[in-house]
Amino acid sequence: MAVTRSDLYQRARRLIPGGVNSPVRAMRAVGLDEPLFMRSGAGALIEDVNGNRYVDWVLSWGPLLFGHADAATLAAVEEALRRGTTFGAPTEGEVELAQEIVDAVPSIEMVRMTSSGTEAAMSAVRLARAATGRDRLIKFAGNYHGHVDALLASAGSGLMTLGIPSTPGVPRGVAGETIVLPYNDVDAVAAAVARYGEGLAAIIVEPVAGNMGVVPPEPGFLEALRTLCDACGALLVFDEVITGFRVARGGAQERFGVRPDITVLGKIVGGGLPAAAFGGRAELMERLAPVGDVYQAGTLSGNPLAVAAGTSVLRRLRDPAVYEALEARGARLEAGLAPFGCVQRVGAMMTLFCQDGPVRDDADAARSDTERYGALFRHVLARGVYLAPSQFECMFVSLAHGDEEIDRTIEAVGGFFGH
Ligand code: PMP
Repeated sequence: MAVTRSDLYQRARRLIPGGVNSPVRAMRAVGLDEPLFMRSGAGALIEDVNGNRYVDWVLSWGPLLFGHADAATLAAVEEALRRGTTFGAPTEGEVELAQEIVDAVPSIEMVRMTSSGTEAAMSAVRLARAATGRDRLIKFAGNYHGHVDALLASAGSGLMTLGIPSTPGVPRGVAGETIVLPYNDVDAVAAAVARYGEGLAAIIVEPVAGNMGVVPPEPGFLEALRTLCDACGALLVFDEVITGFRVARGGAQERFGVRPDITVLGKIVGGGLPAAAFGGRAELMERLAPVGDVYQAGTLSGNPLAVAAGTSVLRRLRDPAVYEALEARGARLEAGLAPFGCVQRVGAMMTLFCQDGPVRDDADAARSDTERYGALFRHVLARGVYLAPSQFECMFVSLAHGDEEIDRTIEAVGGFFGH
């Protein structure tokens, strides 16, 4: 008999903390006793080990802009695979991917690859501190930048889902250098800059928040961050791990027309394999070793398989029709779900908050009815639709989601709300 989810979970729990390698995968927040164990995916569909198929709105939390097992991505990876999996020396593929990133993202002249968004965010912070000779950071409550010590305070994503405002293991001194402010609150940022500006290395922000559910920047918010950074000599860091290549080819900085000093990328940049990156002006990036003295490194950084996948995806994003299609699909989904709660969307990222809204910051997001969201999750799951297993995450629209998948989802959600 084939292995089932229950068998696997029993074994996993004995071998891996909580049975999962990343906390939100436990799916407890939506009331599941056991997480789904996935076996395969094709396009917008994912199949679990019990053989159930779902329309997948998680898509590995964002990387898969062309859906699961996308043929062109697989072909690029297979081609690279035959030549070997890793060399620990420069390859042509890295140069190709760097070119794609530099061509796409307005503020990036040079880029350094890492294996995860966490590493990229951590390195961006180190670079900002080195470049300014200052230590303090401003971050926003409900934003998530990976599990970097200095950035874990009042973070979104799994910490918000599990209600962990600050995690043990972060030295007090490190946390003490981070000032946490409400998202979209220009006055709070201005006051903090007036008080701490001289010692401020960077303001780091998700230019569209995705880790407390989707919260767009209010008009003027990103512009104000730019102005305040310039006024006090701090650097502006956009964490575009989710928004990069998603809300526009050039990310949120293209869509909203505000240029950060440093950009953090992940997810789509690796085409579904482990890759992330950070980049900025050449003069700033050349502070990194071996040109400069700021150390940053990685055994598998710029991995040949990951850069092959990333390059295959990014090249196809040069066609503006991609973003027109994503916008149209996002709009269809948004229109269909709008009657059932507060739907917030920017391009191909969207959240249905179980509340009236609007949601401008983490305090607003926290007013959502998470019990109801959990019930919604379970209702639609039983009807073949897999939503994010937490209220405080996004639905990721892809080019693999056609009208049929979108309409099935709207019908399933509508059924829960009695429509
Ligand atoms: N920044 C943002 C905005 C993210 O959404 C994430 C992950 N969801 C990260 C950083 C961390 O990336 P990773 O999980 O690859 O370490």
